[in-house]
Amino acid sequence: MPNLFIGGEWVSAAGGGLRDVSNPYDQTVIEKVDEASAEDALAAVAAAREAFDRGEWRDWTALRRADLLRRVADLLQRDRAEIARIETLDTGKTLTESGIDVDDVTAVFRYYADLAAADAGRQVDAGDPAVRSRIVHEPVGVCALITPWNYPLLQASWKVAPALAAGNTMVLKPSEVTPLSTIRMVSLLEEAGLPAGVLNLVLGAGVPVGAALVDSPDVELVSFTGGLATGRTIMRAAADTVKKVALELGGKNPNIVFADASFDAAVDYALTAVFLHAGQVCSAGTRLIVEDSLHDRFVADLAGRAERIRLGNGLDPATESGPLVSAEHRAKVEEHVAAGRAEGAVLLTGGARPSDPELRGGCFYLPTIFDDCERSMRVVQEETFGPILTVERFSAEDEAVELGNDTDYGLAGAGWTSDRARAERVAGRLRHGTVWINDFGPYLPQAEWGGFKRSGIGRELGPSGLAEYREAKHIYENTDPRPQRWFGR
Ligand code: NAD
Repeated sequence: MPNLFIGGEWVSAAGGGLRDVSNPYDQTVIEKVDEASAEDALAAVAAAREAFDRGEWRDWTALRRADLLRRVADLLQRDRAEIARIETLDTGKTLTESGIDVDDVTAVFRYYADLAAADAGRQVDAGDPAVRSRIVHEPVGVCALITPWNYPLLQASWKVAPALAAGNTMVLKPSEVTPLSTIRMVSLLEEAGLPAGVLNLVLGAGVPVGAALVDSPDVELVSFTGGLATGRTIMRAAADTVKKVALELGGKNPNIVFADASFDAAVDYALTAVFLHAGQVCSAGTRLIVEDSLHDRFVADLAGRAERIRLGNGLDPATESGPLVSAEHRAKVEEHVAAGRAEGAVLLTGGARPSDPELRGGCFYLPTIFDDCERSMRVVQEETFGPILTVERFSAEDEAVELGNDTDYGLAGAGWTSDRARAERVAGRLRHGTVWINDFGPYLPQAEWGGFKRSGIGRELGPSGLAEYREAKHIYENTDPRPQRWFGR
Protein backbone atom coordinates (compact mmCIF):
# COMPACT_ATOMS: atom_id res chain seq x y z
CA MET A 1 0.00 0.00 0.00
CA PRO A 2 1.36 3.47 -0.83
CA ASN A 3 2.34 5.60 2.18
CA LEU A 4 1.88 9.22 1.16
CA PHE A 5 -1.53 10.65 2.04
CA ILE A 6 -2.45 13.59 -0.19
CA GLY A 7 -5.92 15.06 -0.69
CA GLY A 8 -7.52 12.09 1.06
CA GLU A 9 -5.82 9.44 -1.11
CA TRP A 10 -2.95 7.07 -0.32
CA VAL A 11 -0.50 7.60 -3.16
CA SER A 12 3.02 6.58 -4.15
CA ALA A 13 5.83 9.09 -4.54
CA ALA A 14 5.60 10.84 -7.91
CA GLY A 15 9.22 10.00 -8.66
CA GLY A 16 8.79 6.35 -7.61
CA GLY A 17 11.31 6.74 -4.77
CA LEU A 18 11.44 4.25 -1.89
CA ARG A 19 13.34 4.18 1.41
CA ASP A 20 14.26 1.26 3.68
CA VAL A 21 13.08 1.62 7.27
CA SER A 22 15.16 -0.51 9.60
CA ASN A 23 14.97 -1.90 13.11
CA PRO A 24 17.84 -0.50 15.21
CA TYR A 25 17.89 -3.68 17.32
CA ASP A 26 19.41 -5.71 14.47
CA GLN A 27 19.47 -3.29 11.52
CA THR A 28 17.17 -5.49 9.44
CA VAL A 29 14.80 -3.77 7.03
CA ILE A 30 11.26 -3.71 8.46
CA GLU A 31 9.54 -2.01 5.56
CA LYS A 32 10.09 -0.04 2.37
CA VAL A 33 8.17 3.23 2.35
CA ASP A 34 7.59 5.87 -0.30
CA GLU A 35 10.23 8.57 -0.45
CA ALA A 36 8.61 11.82 -1.49
CA SER A 37 10.19 14.55 -3.57
CA ALA A 38 9.69 18.32 -3.41
CA GLU A 39 6.98 17.80 -6.05
CA ASP A 40 5.00 15.54 -3.68
CA ALA A 41 5.48 18.02 -0.84
CA LEU A 42 4.02 20.81 -2.99
CA ALA A 43 1.10 18.60 -4.05
CA ALA A 44 0.40 18.02 -0.35
CA VAL A 45 0.54 21.77 0.34
CA ALA A 46 -1.87 22.39 -2.57
CA ALA A 47 -4.29 19.81 -1.14
CA ALA A 48 -4.11 21.44 2.30
CA ARG A 49 -4.60 24.89 0.74
CA GLU A 50 -7.65 23.71 -1.19
CA ALA A 51 -9.17 22.08 1.91
CA PHE A 52 -8.59 25.22 3.94
CA ASP A 53 -9.87 27.70 1.37
CA ARG A 54 -12.74 25.78 -0.18
CA GLY A 55 -13.35 22.49 1.65
CA GLU A 56 -16.16 21.44 4.01
CA TRP A 57 -13.69 21.68 6.94
CA ARG A 58 -14.22 25.46 7.04
CA ASP A 59 -17.77 24.84 8.21
CA TRP A 60 -16.96 22.30 10.87
CA THR A 61 -17.74 23.73 14.30
CA ALA A 62 -15.27 23.38 17.15
CA LEU A 63 -17.60 20.84 18.77
CA ARG A 64 -17.54 18.70 15.65
CA ARG A 65 -13.74 18.87 15.49
CA ALA A 66 -13.64 17.85 19.16
CA ASP A 67 -15.77 14.78 18.41
CA LEU A 68 -13.33 13.76 15.70
CA LEU A 69 -10.36 14.08 18.08
CA ARG A 70 -12.18 11.89 20.62
CA ARG A 71 -12.82 9.24 17.96
CA VAL A 72 -9.09 9.24 17.13
CA ALA A 73 -8.30 8.79 20.84
CA ASP A 74 -10.63 5.77 20.99
CA LEU A 75 -9.06 4.26 17.85
CA LEU A 76 -5.56 4.72 19.30
CA GLN A 77 -6.64 2.73 22.35
CA ARG A 78 -8.31 0.07 20.19
CA ASP A 79 -5.02 -0.46 18.31
CA ARG A 80 -2.72 0.24 21.28
CA ALA A 81 -0.81 -3.05 21.19
CA GLU A 82 -0.22 -2.96 17.44
CA ILE A 83 0.90 0.68 17.42
CA ALA A 84 3.23 0.11 20.37
CA ARG A 85 4.81 -2.79 18.52
CA ILE A 86 5.35 -0.66 15.42
CA GLU A 87 6.98 2.08 17.51
CA THR A 88 9.29 -0.40 19.22
CA LEU A 89 10.37 -1.99 15.93
CA ASP A 90 11.05 1.41 14.41
CA THR A 91 12.77 3.18 17.33
CA GLY A 92 14.21 0.33 19.42
CA LYS A 93 12.56 1.56 22.63
CA THR A 94 10.97 -1.01 24.93
CA LEU A 95 7.39 -2.13 24.41
CA THR A 96 6.50 -0.73 27.85
CA GLU A 97 7.73 2.72 26.80
CA SER A 98 5.90 2.50 23.48
CA GLY A 99 2.66 1.54 25.25
CA ILE A 100 3.05 4.54 27.56
CA ASP A 101 3.62 6.71 24.48
CA VAL A 102 0.33 5.52 22.94
CA ASP A 103 -1.50 6.31 26.20
CA ASP A 104 0.11 9.76 26.35
CA VAL A 105 -0.83 10.43 22.74
CA THR A 106 -4.41 9.38 23.49
CA ALA A 107 -4.49 11.80 26.43
CA VAL A 108 -3.24 14.62 24.19
CA PHE A 109 -6.06 14.02 21.67
CA ARG A 110 -8.61 13.98 24.51
CA TYR A 111 -7.17 17.12 26.10
CA TYR A 112 -7.39 19.14 22.88
CA ALA A 113 -10.86 17.74 22.20
CA ASP A 114 -11.93 19.27 25.53
CA LEU A 115 -10.12 22.54 24.84
CA ALA A 116 -11.30 22.99 21.22
CA ALA A 117 -14.68 24.45 22.11
CA ALA A 118 -13.92 25.64 25.63
CA ASP A 119 -13.15 29.21 24.65
CA ALA A 120 -15.28 30.97 22.02
CA GLY A 121 -13.42 34.26 22.23
CA ARG A 122 -14.31 37.33 24.26
CA GLN A 123 -16.43 40.40 24.21
CA VAL A 124 -14.64 43.74 24.51
CA ASP A 125 -16.13 46.96 25.91
CA ALA A 126 -15.53 49.56 23.20
CA GLY A 127 -16.79 52.47 25.31
CA ASP A 128 -19.78 53.01 23.03
CA PRO A 129 -23.13 51.26 23.63
CA ALA A 130 -23.75 51.11 19.88
CA VAL A 131 -20.62 49.09 19.24
CA ARG A 132 -20.29 45.36 19.56
CA SER A 133 -16.62 44.47 19.72
CA ARG A 134 -15.35 40.94 20.08
CA ILE A 135 -12.22 38.81 19.68
CA VAL A 136 -12.64 35.51 17.87
CA HIS A 137 -10.13 32.72 17.34
CA GLU A 138 -9.48 31.57 13.82
CA PRO A 139 -7.12 28.93 12.48
CA VAL A 140 -3.77 30.15 11.14
CA GLY A 141 -4.28 28.30 7.85
CA VAL A 142 -2.01 25.71 6.25
CA CYS A 143 0.58 24.36 8.69
CA ALA A 144 3.73 22.32 8.07
CA LEU A 145 4.41 19.93 10.95
CA ILE A 146 7.91 18.45 11.02
CA THR A 147 8.88 15.88 13.65
CA PRO A 148 11.98 13.96 14.89
CA TRP A 149 12.71 10.25 15.43
CA ASN A 150 12.94 9.87 19.19
CA TYR A 151 9.23 10.08 20.08
CA PRO A 152 7.69 9.87 16.60
CA LEU A 153 4.05 9.38 17.50
CA LEU A 154 4.15 11.58 20.57
CA GLN A 155 5.78 14.54 18.84
CA ALA A 156 3.32 14.27 15.94
CA SER A 157 0.34 14.28 18.33
CA TRP A 158 1.56 17.41 20.16
CA LYS A 159 1.21 19.22 16.82
CA VAL A 160 -1.63 17.42 15.01
CA ALA A 161 -4.16 17.44 17.88
CA PRO A 162 -4.04 21.21 18.61
CA ALA A 163 -3.71 22.10 14.91
CA LEU A 164 -6.91 20.15 14.15
CA ALA A 165 -8.66 21.44 17.28
CA ALA A 166 -8.03 24.98 16.04
CA GLY A 167 -9.37 24.19 12.55
CA ASN A 168 -6.17 24.32 10.47
CA THR A 169 -5.21 22.13 7.55
CA MET A 170 -1.74 20.66 7.43
CA VAL A 171 1.08 18.69 5.91
CA LEU A 172 2.83 16.35 8.33
CA LYS A 173 6.38 15.18 7.70
CA PRO A 174 7.77 12.69 10.20
CA SER A 175 11.45 11.86 10.49
CA GLU A 176 12.63 9.74 7.57
CA VAL A 177 14.23 7.42 10.15
CA THR A 178 10.98 6.50 11.97
CA PRO A 179 7.86 7.12 9.86
CA LEU A 180 5.85 3.96 10.63
CA SER A 181 3.74 4.91 13.65
CA THR A 182 2.87 8.25 12.03
CA ILE A 183 1.58 6.45 8.93
CA ARG A 184 -0.61 4.35 11.25
CA MET A 185 -1.91 7.44 13.06
CA VAL A 186 -2.87 9.08 9.78
CA SER A 187 -4.86 5.99 8.79
CA LEU A 188 -6.74 6.30 12.11
CA LEU A 189 -7.53 9.96 11.34
CA GLU A 190 -8.89 8.84 8.00
CA GLU A 191 -10.99 6.14 9.69
CA ALA A 192 -12.29 8.71 12.19
CA GLY A 193 -13.75 10.71 9.28
CA LEU A 194 -11.28 13.54 8.67
CA PRO A 195 -12.29 15.33 5.44
CA ALA A 196 -9.95 14.97 2.44
CA GLY A 197 -7.01 17.35 2.34
CA VAL A 198 -7.21 18.46 5.97
CA LEU A 199 -4.17 16.40 6.96
CA ASN A 200 -1.66 15.31 4.33
CA LEU A 201 1.33 13.09 4.97
CA VAL A 202 4.64 13.22 3.13
CA LEU A 203 7.65 11.04 3.94
CA GLY A 204 11.27 11.66 3.17
CA ALA A 205 14.44 13.59 3.83
CA GLY A 206 14.60 17.01 5.47
CA VAL A 207 16.00 18.31 2.21
CA PRO A 208 14.20 18.40 -0.17
CA VAL A 209 10.85 17.38 1.42
CA GLY A 210 10.83 19.35 4.69
CA ALA A 211 12.56 22.31 3.05
CA ALA A 212 9.91 22.48 0.30
CA LEU A 213 7.22 22.82 2.96
CA VAL A 214 9.13 25.55 4.78
CA ASP A 215 9.75 27.48 1.54
CA SER A 216 6.19 27.26 0.21
CA PRO A 217 4.36 30.61 0.21
CA ASP A 218 1.11 28.68 0.75
CA VAL A 219 2.24 27.46 4.18
CA GLU A 220 1.49 29.95 6.94
CA LEU A 221 3.04 28.24 9.96
CA VAL A 222 5.86 25.78 10.52
CA SER A 223 5.97 23.81 13.72
CA PHE A 224 9.24 21.96 14.02
CA THR A 225 10.72 19.63 16.61
CA GLY A 226 14.30 18.56 16.10
CA GLY A 227 17.89 19.64 16.41
CA LEU A 228 19.21 23.16 16.94
CA ALA A 229 21.06 23.36 13.61
CA THR A 230 17.94 22.37 11.66
CA GLY A 231 15.87 24.82 13.71
CA ARG A 232 18.19 27.65 12.70
CA THR A 233 17.96 26.68 9.01
CA ILE A 234 14.16 26.56 9.19
CA MET A 235 13.89 29.90 10.95
CA ARG A 236 16.07 31.55 8.33
CA ALA A 237 14.17 29.98 5.45
CA ALA A 238 10.81 30.92 6.97
CA ALA A 239 11.84 34.58 7.07
CA ASP A 240 11.45 34.86 3.28
CA THR A 241 7.70 34.31 3.49
CA VAL A 242 7.32 35.65 7.07
CA LYS A 243 5.76 32.45 8.35
CA LYS A 244 4.95 31.85 11.94
CA VAL A 245 7.57 29.54 13.39
CA ALA A 246 7.27 27.30 16.43
CA LEU A 247 10.50 25.50 17.38
CA GLU A 248 11.10 22.73 19.91
CA LEU A 249 14.83 22.16 19.84
CA GLY A 250 17.32 20.36 22.01
CA GLY A 251 18.34 20.51 25.65
CA LYS A 252 21.29 20.00 27.98
CA ASN A 253 19.35 19.50 31.12
CA PRO A 254 20.78 19.85 34.63
CA ASN A 255 19.81 17.50 37.42
CA ILE A 256 20.93 19.18 40.65
CA VAL A 257 21.18 17.04 43.79
CA PHE A 258 21.65 18.66 47.21
CA ALA A 259 23.09 16.68 50.12
CA ASP A 260 19.74 16.77 51.96
CA ALA A 261 17.87 15.03 49.09
CA SER A 262 16.19 11.68 49.55
CA PHE A 263 19.17 9.54 48.51
CA ASP A 264 17.48 6.44 47.10
CA ALA A 265 14.91 8.37 45.09
CA ALA A 266 17.49 10.81 43.74
CA VAL A 267 19.82 8.01 42.57
CA ASP A 268 16.95 6.11 41.03
CA TYR A 269 15.60 9.11 39.12
CA ALA A 270 19.09 10.24 38.08
CA LEU A 271 19.44 6.86 36.37
CA THR A 272 16.15 7.02 34.44
CA ALA A 273 16.65 10.74 33.75
CA VAL A 274 19.61 9.99 31.52
CA PHE A 275 19.38 6.35 30.47
CA LEU A 276 15.70 6.04 29.53
CA HIS A 277 15.39 5.40 25.78
CA ALA A 278 19.21 5.30 25.68
CA GLY A 279 19.33 9.01 26.44
CA GLN A 280 17.54 9.94 23.22
CA VAL A 281 15.20 12.29 25.02
CA CYS A 282 15.29 16.06 24.51
CA SER A 283 14.74 16.60 28.23
CA ALA A 284 17.19 13.89 29.37
CA GLY A 285 19.00 14.71 32.60
CA THR A 286 22.46 14.39 31.10
CA ARG A 287 24.15 16.85 33.40
CA LEU A 288 24.33 15.66 37.02
CA ILE A 289 25.33 18.48 39.37
CA VAL A 290 25.87 17.01 42.81
CA GLU A 291 26.82 18.53 46.17
CA ASP A 292 30.43 17.84 47.18
CA SER A 293 29.64 16.07 50.45
CA LEU A 294 27.28 13.63 48.68
CA HIS A 295 29.30 13.12 45.53
CA ASP A 296 31.35 9.97 46.22
CA ARG A 297 28.53 7.85 47.63
CA PHE A 298 26.04 9.06 45.04
CA VAL A 299 28.23 8.47 42.03
CA ALA A 300 29.41 5.05 43.24
CA ASP A 301 25.81 3.91 43.65
CA LEU A 302 24.80 5.33 40.31
CA ALA A 303 27.68 3.70 38.41
CA GLY A 304 26.96 0.33 40.03
CA ARG A 305 23.34 0.49 38.91
CA ALA A 306 24.19 1.79 35.43
CA GLU A 307 26.34 -1.29 34.88
CA ARG A 308 23.38 -3.56 35.61
CA ILE A 309 21.02 -1.96 33.03
CA ARG A 310 19.85 -4.76 30.72
CA LEU A 311 20.23 -3.80 27.08
CA GLY A 312 18.34 -5.80 24.48
CA ASN A 313 15.45 -6.18 22.11
CA GLY A 314 12.64 -3.78 22.96
CA LEU A 315 10.15 -6.59 22.33
CA ASP A 316 11.71 -8.67 25.12
CA PRO A 317 9.99 -7.86 28.44
CA ALA A 318 13.31 -8.33 30.29
CA THR A 319 14.94 -5.49 28.34
CA GLU A 320 15.43 -2.25 30.27
CA SER A 321 16.91 -0.18 27.45
CA GLY A 322 17.06 -0.58 23.69
CA PRO A 323 19.66 0.54 21.14
CA LEU A 324 20.39 3.93 19.67
CA VAL A 325 18.23 4.75 16.67
CA SER A 326 20.84 4.20 13.96
CA ALA A 327 24.48 3.42 13.29
CA GLU A 328 25.01 7.04 12.15
CA HIS A 329 23.65 8.33 15.43
CA ARG A 330 25.85 5.93 17.43
CA ALA A 331 28.87 7.25 15.54
CA LYS A 332 27.95 10.77 16.73
CA VAL A 333 27.65 9.55 20.34
CA GLU A 334 31.04 7.80 20.08
CA GLU A 335 32.62 10.98 18.78
CA HIS A 336 31.27 12.87 21.81
CA VAL A 337 32.64 10.27 24.21
CA ALA A 338 36.06 10.53 22.54
CA ALA A 339 35.90 14.32 22.97
CA GLY A 340 35.03 13.91 26.67
CA ARG A 341 38.03 11.64 27.19
CA ALA A 342 40.34 14.00 25.31
CA GLU A 343 39.14 16.92 27.47
CA GLY A 344 40.02 15.02 30.65
CA ALA A 345 36.65 13.79 31.89
CA VAL A 346 37.10 10.63 33.98
CA LEU A 347 35.27 7.61 32.61
CA LEU A 348 33.57 5.73 35.47
CA THR A 349 31.66 3.20 33.43
CA GLY A 350 30.65 2.47 29.83
CA GLY A 351 32.42 4.34 27.07
CA ALA A 352 32.11 1.44 24.63
CA ARG A 353 29.74 -0.78 22.69
CA PRO A 354 28.52 -3.81 24.69
CA SER A 355 30.55 -7.00 24.23
CA ASP A 356 27.49 -9.29 24.33
CA PRO A 357 27.49 -11.11 20.95
CA GLU A 358 23.67 -11.01 20.87
CA LEU A 359 23.77 -7.22 20.65
CA ARG A 360 26.46 -7.03 18.00
CA GLY A 361 24.07 -6.53 15.09
CA GLY A 362 22.32 -3.58 16.72
CA CYS A 363 23.16 0.05 17.36
CA PHE A 364 23.87 -0.43 21.06
CA TYR A 365 26.04 1.68 23.33
CA LEU A 366 26.76 1.12 27.03
CA PRO A 367 25.35 3.49 29.67
CA THR A 368 28.29 5.81 30.25
CA ILE A 369 29.23 8.06 33.17
CA PHE A 370 31.94 10.72 33.09
CA ASP A 371 33.08 12.13 36.45
CA ASP A 372 35.18 15.24 37.22
CA CYS A 373 33.61 17.20 34.40
CA GLU A 374 34.12 20.90 33.86
CA ARG A 375 31.47 23.25 32.52
CA SER A 376 33.68 24.23 29.57
CA MET A 377 33.85 20.69 28.18
CA ARG A 378 32.07 19.93 24.93
CA VAL A 379 30.54 16.83 26.47
CA VAL A 380 28.99 19.08 29.15
CA GLN A 381 27.75 21.77 26.78
CA GLU A 382 26.69 20.02 23.55
CA GLU A 383 23.69 17.77 23.25
CA THR A 384 24.85 14.15 22.85
CA PHE A 385 21.40 12.58 22.65
CA GLY A 386 22.79 9.29 23.92
CA PRO A 387 23.32 7.39 27.19
CA ILE A 388 26.08 9.69 28.46
CA LEU A 389 26.00 11.30 31.91
CA THR A 390 28.46 13.99 32.97
CA VAL A 391 29.03 14.72 36.66
CA GLU A 392 29.97 18.13 38.08
CA ARG A 393 30.22 19.14 41.77
CA PHE A 394 29.17 22.17 43.76
CA SER A 395 29.49 23.37 47.33
CA ALA A 396 26.92 26.21 47.53
CA GLU A 397 23.37 26.75 46.27
CA ASP A 398 24.32 29.75 44.13
CA GLU A 399 27.01 27.74 42.42
CA ALA A 400 24.56 24.90 41.70
CA VAL A 401 22.07 27.27 40.08
CA GLU A 402 24.81 29.00 38.11
CA LEU A 403 26.01 25.67 36.73
CA GLY A 404 22.43 24.64 35.96
CA ASN A 405 21.95 27.80 33.92
CA ASP A 406 25.35 27.66 32.24
CA THR A 407 24.03 26.33 28.95
CA ASP A 408 22.78 27.82 25.69
CA TYR A 409 19.74 25.59 26.05
CA GLY A 410 16.86 25.98 28.48
CA LEU A 411 14.47 23.09 28.08
CA ALA A 412 14.25 21.35 31.46
CA GLY A 413 16.03 20.91 34.77
CA ALA A 414 15.53 19.40 38.19
CA GLY A 415 16.47 20.09 41.79
CA TRP A 416 16.53 17.51 44.59
CA THR A 417 16.31 18.75 48.18
CA SER A 418 14.23 18.23 51.32
CA ASP A 419 14.33 21.99 52.06
CA ARG A 420 11.09 23.49 50.71
CA ALA A 421 12.38 27.06 50.77
CA ARG A 422 15.46 26.09 48.81
CA ALA A 423 13.31 24.15 46.34
CA GLU A 424 11.29 27.32 45.68
CA ARG A 425 14.42 29.42 45.25
CA VAL A 426 16.00 26.96 42.82
CA ALA A 427 12.77 26.52 40.83
CA GLY A 428 12.51 30.28 40.52
CA ARG A 429 16.08 30.79 39.38
CA LEU A 430 16.57 27.96 36.89
CA ARG A 431 16.10 29.33 33.37
CA HIS A 432 14.43 26.29 31.83
CA GLY A 433 10.93 25.77 30.42
CA THR A 434 10.18 22.93 32.84
CA VAL A 435 11.60 22.56 36.36
CA TRP A 436 11.02 19.42 38.38
CA ILE A 437 11.50 19.39 42.13
CA ASN A 438 12.23 15.97 43.61
CA ASP A 439 11.24 14.32 40.35
CA PHE A 440 12.49 14.06 36.79
CA GLY A 441 10.69 13.64 33.51
CA PRO A 442 6.91 13.96 33.85
CA TYR A 443 5.00 16.20 31.50
CA LEU A 444 1.26 16.70 31.28
CA PRO A 445 -0.98 17.41 28.26
CA GLN A 446 -2.45 20.33 30.23
CA ALA A 447 0.93 21.91 31.11
CA GLU A 448 3.04 23.94 28.68
CA TRP A 449 6.20 22.33 27.31
CA GLY A 450 9.01 24.18 25.58
CA GLY A 451 12.29 25.94 25.91
CA PHE A 452 13.93 29.10 27.14
CA LYS A 453 16.92 30.39 25.16
CA ARG A 454 18.05 28.17 22.29
CA SER A 455 15.74 25.31 23.21
CA GLY A 456 13.11 26.92 21.05
CA ILE A 457 10.34 29.37 20.39
CA GLY A 458 6.77 28.94 21.57
CA ARG A 459 5.15 26.21 23.62
CA GLU A 460 3.48 22.89 22.94
CA LEU A 461 0.81 21.33 25.17
CA GLY A 462 -1.46 23.27 27.51
CA PRO A 463 -3.58 26.22 26.35
CA SER A 464 -0.47 27.81 24.75
CA GLY A 465 -0.08 24.71 22.57
CA LEU A 466 -3.49 25.51 21.07
CA ALA A 467 -2.80 29.26 20.87
CA GLU A 468 0.14 28.54 18.52
CA TYR A 469 -2.38 27.39 15.91
CA ARG A 470 -4.83 30.29 16.29
CA GLU A 471 -5.06 33.80 14.99
CA ALA A 472 -6.95 36.39 17.04
CA LYS A 473 -9.37 38.49 15.02
CA HIS A 474 -11.04 41.63 16.31
CA ILE A 475 -14.56 42.12 14.92
CA TYR A 476 -15.87 45.63 15.57
CA GLU A 477 -19.50 46.13 14.73
CA ASN A 478 -21.18 49.52 14.81
CA THR A 479 -24.89 48.81 15.24
CA ASP A 480 -25.89 52.43 14.77
CA PRO A 481 -23.64 54.05 12.14
CA ARG A 482 -24.13 57.82 11.62
CA PRO A 483 -22.18 60.24 9.43
CA GLN A 484 -19.03 61.42 11.19
CA ARG A 485 -18.57 64.63 9.17
CA TRP A 486 -14.83 64.45 9.75
CA PHE A 487 -14.22 66.01 6.36
CA GLY A 488 -16.10 68.87 4.81
CA ARG A 489 -17.41 70.28 8.10
P1 NAD B 1 16.72 16.79 12.94
O1 NAD B 1 16.76 18.23 13.22
O2 NAD B 1 17.82 16.17 12.21
O3 NAD B 1 15.41 16.40 12.14
C1 NAD B 1 14.11 16.70 12.60
C2 NAD B 1 13.15 16.74 11.42
O4 NAD B 1 13.49 17.83 10.56
C3 NAD B 1 13.17 15.51 10.53
O5 NAD B 1 11.86 15.22 10.11
C4 NAD B 1 14.03 15.96 9.35
O6 NAD B 1 13.77 15.25 8.17
C5 NAD B 1 13.61 17.40 9.22
N1 NAD B 1 14.56 18.29 8.54
C6 NAD B 1 15.90 18.17 8.47
N2 NAD B 1 16.43 19.21 7.78
C7 NAD B 1 15.40 19.99 7.38
C8 NAD B 1 15.30 21.20 6.63
N3 NAD B 1 16.37 21.84 6.14
N4 NAD B 1 14.07 21.73 6.42
C9 NAD B 1 12.96 21.14 6.91
N5 NAD B 1 13.00 19.97 7.62
C10 NAD B 1 14.21 19.41 7.87
O7 NAD B 1 16.50 16.13 14.39
P2 NAD B 1 16.46 14.58 14.73
O8 NAD B 1 17.85 14.09 14.64
O9 NAD B 1 15.39 13.89 14.00
O10 NAD B 1 15.99 14.64 16.26
C11 NAD B 1 16.84 14.85 17.30
C12 NAD B 1 16.76 16.28 17.81
O11 NAD B 1 15.41 16.63 18.13
C13 NAD B 1 17.52 16.49 19.08
O12 NAD B 1 18.31 17.64 18.99
C14 NAD B 1 16.45 16.66 20.14
O13 NAD B 1 16.84 17.38 21.26
C15 NAD B 1 15.37 17.31 19.40
N6 NAD B 1 14.08 17.08 20.07
C16 NAD B 1 13.51 18.11 20.77
C17 NAD B 1 12.32 17.92 21.45
C18 NAD B 1 11.67 19.03 22.23
O14 NAD B 1 10.52 18.89 22.62
N7 NAD B 1 12.32 20.14 22.46
C19 NAD B 1 11.69 16.68 21.38
C20 NAD B 1 12.29 15.65 20.66
C21 NAD B 1 13.49 15.88 20.01
